Amino acid sequence: MIMSKARFKAITESQNRNRITIEEKGRRSELFAQNVFNEERMLQYFTKDALQSVQSAIVSGSKIDRKIADQVAEAMKGWAISMGATHYTHWFQPLTGATAEKHDAFFDLLPNGRGLEKFGGGQLVQQEPDASSFPSGGIRNTFEARGYTAWDPTSPAFIYETTLCIPTIFVSYTGEALDNKAPLLRALHAMDEAATAVAKYFDKNVSKVNATLGWEQEYFLIDKALANSRPDISLTGRTLVGHSAAKGQQLDDHYFGVIPGRVLSFMSDLEKECTKLGIPVKTRHNEVAPNQFELAPVFEEANLAVDHNLLLMDVMDKIADKHSFKVLFHEKPFAGINGSGKHNNWSLATDTGVNLLSPGSTPMKNLQFLTFFINTIKAVDTYEELLRSSIASAGNDHRLGANEAPPAILSIFIGTQLSRVLDELEGVSKGKLSPEEKTELKLNVVGKIPEILMDNTDRNRTSPFAFTGNKFEMRGVGSQANCAKPMTILNTIVAKQLRAFKKEVDALVDKKSLKKDEAIFNVLREYIKTSKRIRFDGDGYSEAWEKEAKKRKLSNNKITPEALKVLTSPDTIDLFKSMKVMSEIEVNARQEVELEAYILHLQIEGRVFNELVYSYIIPAAITYQNKLIKNVLGLKDIYGAAHKKLTEGQSNIIEKIAEHIVVLKAKTDAMTDARKKANQLTDSLKKALAYAENIKPHFDEIRYESDKLEQLIDDQVWPLTKYRELLFIK
Ligand code: ADP
Ligand code: MG
Repeated sequence: MIMSKARFKAITESQNRNRITIEEKGRRSELFAQNVFNEERMLQYFTKDALQSVQSAIVSGSKIDRKIADQVAEAMKGWAISMGATHYTHWFQPLTGATAEKHDAFFDLLPNGRGLEKFGGGQLVQQEPDASSFPSGGIRNTFEARGYTAWDPTSPAFIYETTLCIPTIFVSYTGEALDNKAPLLRALHAMDEAATAVAKYFDKNVSKVNATLGWEQEYFLIDKALANSRPDISLTGRTLVGHSAAKGQQLDDHYFGVIPGRVLSFMSDLEKECTKLGIPVKTRHNEVAPNQFELAPVFEEANLAVDHNLLLMDVMDKIADKHSFKVLFHEKPFAGINGSGKHNNWSLATDTGVNLLSPGSTPMKNLQFLTFFINTIKAVDTYEELLRSSIASAGNDHRLGANEAPPAILSIFIGTQLSRVLDELEGVSKGKLSPEEKTELKLNVVGKIPEILMDNTDRNRTSPFAFTGNKFEMRGVGSQANCAKPMTILNTIVAKQLRAFKKEVDALVDKKSLKKDEAIFNVLREYIKTSKRIRFDGDGYSEAWEKEAKKRKLSNNKITPEALKVLTSPDTIDLFKSMKVMSEIEVNARQEVELEAYILHLQIEGRVFNELVYSYIIPAAITYQNKLIKNVLGLKDIYGAAHKKLTEGQSNIIEKIAEHIVVLKAKTDAMTDARKKANQLTDSLKKALAYAENIKPHFDEIRYESDKLEQLIDDQVWPLTKYRELLFIK
């Protein structure tokens, strides 16, 4: 019998896996940050000078001088070697979206031929990786050819396996950011400045505000052998073809269900490793789709949280491999069932221990809450299209607006209770407030917020940007995305807004001699009025909302190239420049890199389609068709003219297969032709649009024909591991 060997070998291999039993003993707190050069280790290893210098660099961004850097490096080296590390690396985030590292041994040779372990301030602070192959959006072509990495002391060094990893930024010699971390740090700095100035209205003791981020990472786990048996999963991280299994997620039996033993064993190992690395993982559960899971940590300062998310994704890959799994971070690895995202919970925390987006117990605290709450709403309203651009990617295009994830339209959900508070505030009269009005406002509007929030149960899961009690939750972020991108833009726009707010309030106090709280009420009232269109509490998945959003002139950019256009609008460039987050060159480069990434992803998918169709699907279809033809001819031999009645079914299948092959081949060739045409284009935006409009639609058509064939053809002959085999881990 002819049989697709690869598929059946993979299935057998996956079925023969040892079922590992797990032991989840021991206290997590004892393991926590064992492999991190955190404050505790600094106290232990640093001189007083070094400690002070590093701490002030962390808190206020001051520079660390070379002598101190040498001391720091010596201490880090001592600790790392005592932990068994042999190498060190500058760990950075090039614009590929992933992380990069180049390992160097501590070991060095002296001129006399003796060896020693060397690591000085020079190596700690700055490195020059020959990283000329990373995307730079043209920056390194037009300026210096090389880039360098520079230590980010705000994110602690850690040891992974036997390497000391030092978080760094990656910039060109002329100072342009070539990574995702440098702009994030600048945005967080801008946020600190703007938010601290506003927080001082309410508490003079505030001297620093940190943005906080708590991400929730969704992912799929697939048996390694099964994943490797499919060229599409291996090369694109998703299935390009594949008919849905008879059972998908319709029974909702996976969501929060019992975690399969094999998966639990993986999770347990993963969490142990994360804990050692100082990633405060907390929750794990099954997600909606079969084989889909989620992991979330306790929230942290945003830069550290971003690093931890990137580190987590790396660690997951490695631990999964040990457990013979492959992790899929793609936003839509399987058609017909949910894809994966990464919710970004975001808030602002002062160095006095206050969450600025948490209502308090006094009217003054609540006025502070309302200030940050309304300014965030206003910022998102002004820059909704830009915020949408921060989550644009080829993978996420499959998800946004596909009835499982928020739409491509940005809107904010705040719930009926807080909407009522804003409505009441909007009614406050202009200018000076009468004593009665002030009392009424303080007691009955602002004073009531905490009680109200207690019973705020109507959480809307369809909203892309929802207020959830003491933080905003940005839900459209892609599962494989680097959170630095949305976090850079969110923090920049809110910082810009807070800066404008402070200016307006101060002007009212100075020029109209309003009291500070009156001035704040006045400005907030205007913001409530002018940012109304961004607030939407209804069903974000509905068609009615799309129509309504259009009326409200909210952007609805469904494809990445459209979404990315706004990055280089004069307003955006102005924003980034004025907040010192990115220069025009950097913004242009980023758009170029994103467009290029989009094109490359689709290009690879197109090529894989070609291979699948010509080398897998058509040959399998013909094999089975020939089997049927042989059968029909055989029956004809035996029964002569009477065979017709007996071979009607077979003949019908033979014809159907033939028809599907014809269309499948035609669509595939049309896709290839369109690709050749698009590849002639030199302008990235035009090329990306051509891929989106002329090539991608063929993908769906090809898939349709292939999935039809999958249903017609002998299971023994079908060469691609099926959804039913991929998706149900035992
Ligand atoms: P879900 O969306 O799954 O219902 P939760 O409300 O449990 O999620 O979300 C909790 C997430 O929010 C966690 O990842 C947590 O770390 C994060 N979070 C909680 N408070 C804050 C905060 N002040 N700033 C940022 N993230 C926060
Ligand atoms: Mg969530």
